[in-house]
Amino acid sequence: MHELGIVIQIVRQLEAYMSEHDIQRIDTVVLEIGELSSVFPKYIEDVYPIAVEKTRLKDTKLQIDILPGIGKCQACSFVYNLVENQNQCPRCMSNAFSVITGREFMIKQIVVFD
Ligand SMILES: [Zn+2]
Repeated sequence: MHELGIVIQIVRQLEAYMSEHDIQRIDTVVLEIGELSSVFPKYIEDVYPIAVEKTRLKDTKLQIDILPGIGKCQACSFVYNLVENQNQCPRCMSNAFSVITGREFMIKQIVVFD
């Protein structure tokens, strides 16, 4: 499970950001995770409390926004949901596609107390 390492990195980034911008407390951290990324949102939620323990982000809430895995068929250019169609174009049945969205993993937003 590599999620703990990933979350610890995110926490470090956020702490650096807080120092730079003189932010005392963050209310909510919003992460964006693509359905096709190698990161499992459930694991991120599980390890988050461990990663923020003893940091300035201790009482921060975590919100995860899931981005669907969308691909474009290389044969007929049809755009479709890769997960729902198991990577197969529903129009021409080709398995050749390029990913449009779904591999993202990033800090989307930080909600700060007034
Ligand atoms: Zn197609």
